[in-house]
Amino acid sequence: MSTNDDPPAYPENPQNFDGYEKIGVCIPNPIEMNNLPEIEFKKQENIEEAPSISEDQARDALRNFVKESIFYKKEPVETMRVISMTPFNTSKYTLDTFVETRSTNYKSEPFFGVPNMMLNMMNGRPPQPWEINARPSSLFVDSIFKTEIPNSSHLEICRMCNAQGFKPCFHCKGSGRKPCFSCNGMRFKTGIDSKQEPCFSCKGNGFDSCFQCKGSGRDPCFHCKGAGRLKWYLELCVEFKTHKDEYFKHSDHVTEKNLKKCIGKSVFTETNHKLNPITNYSDSAINQASNSLINQHLSKYSSSKILAQRHEINVIPVTLVTYEYNGKQYNYIVYGLENKVNTDEYPAKGCCTII
Ligand SMILES: [Zn+2]
Ligand SMILES: [Zn+2]
Ligand SMILES: [Zn+2]
Repeated sequence: MSTNDDPPAYPENPQNFDGYEKIGVCIPNPIEMNNLPEIEFKKQENIEEAPSISEDQARDALRNFVKESIFYKKEPVETMRVISMTPFNTSKYTLDTFVETRSTNYKSEPFFGVPNMMLNMMNGRPPQPWEINARPSSLFVDSIFKTEIPNSSHLEICRMCNAQGFKPCFHCKGSGRKPCFSCNGMRFKTGIDSKQEPCFSCKGNGFDSCFQCKGSGRDPCFHCKGAGRLKWYLELCVEFKTHKDEYFKHSDHVTEKNLKKCIGKSVFTETNHKLNPITNYSDSAINQASNSLINQHLSKYSSSKILAQRHEINVIPVTLVTYEYNGKQYNYIVYGLENKVNTDEYPAKGCCTII
């Protein structure tokens, strides 16, 4: 290895460009709302009714649940009498905020041309970070795009090799040769009859050519790749990212973990560049969640530009079914559009007999 030193991350003489006083995240100008991608504005006018299940569906759901386990017997589900079905539907609110974040960073690359070439390439001041054209391929699809900021480059000598393009070979300390492996640099070897004979391997000069640098004594500089000069420039990084948050209205009957795994019915959706909180949903907890999550996103992503937001209300049907079997009462829960079942009091828990 030639060196373990880290190459410099910053140029020695950074250029002072307007708008690039600080390197890192570029705060967007709130007035500057140009270059917005096309958006399909969508708003559902009426909030739909939540779905409910019939007694037959409730019985089918329990039948499927019993079928899946070898511990349960079929008989109770076929003969039970449903007493009541009480809905405890639960709502879920989801907010997606699609943001664009721009940041700058110094970059360098080996420069093999003549310095005049650089001057010809420069053409005025670098454009401001938010003036550079970049658009996401589609909304709510994450992507990263990096580009060199025009007119932001300058030349410097490579500090890793002091403009040499190479460093002395680590293995031979720059001499290009090493003591002969065969005679250990002694030039002579002792023959069979104790006579000193010139070393056959190095032909009596005591050295071998350094294998690593092939005798040149030099290691090409890994930083400038031998150019001796570096072109330093500012790189713009544009990141498009969707941030997601969701809120579940608390349910006593089904855990949030189970609610997350089941399908609900979408009863309201809206997409826009910036959303206003929902205020007219029947459940005030959802209205509050919409208000607080939208405000949270506004402050959390204030150093990014919000390009689009979408929110949705999902209703997850939850029904408490009470039934009678052999003179006793039992309960179970049917939840999700898939009619999943949750119960720990099914009457006929047969013993596990594997035949
Ligand atoms: Zn030798
Ligand atoms: Zn060497
Ligand atoms: Zn170098």
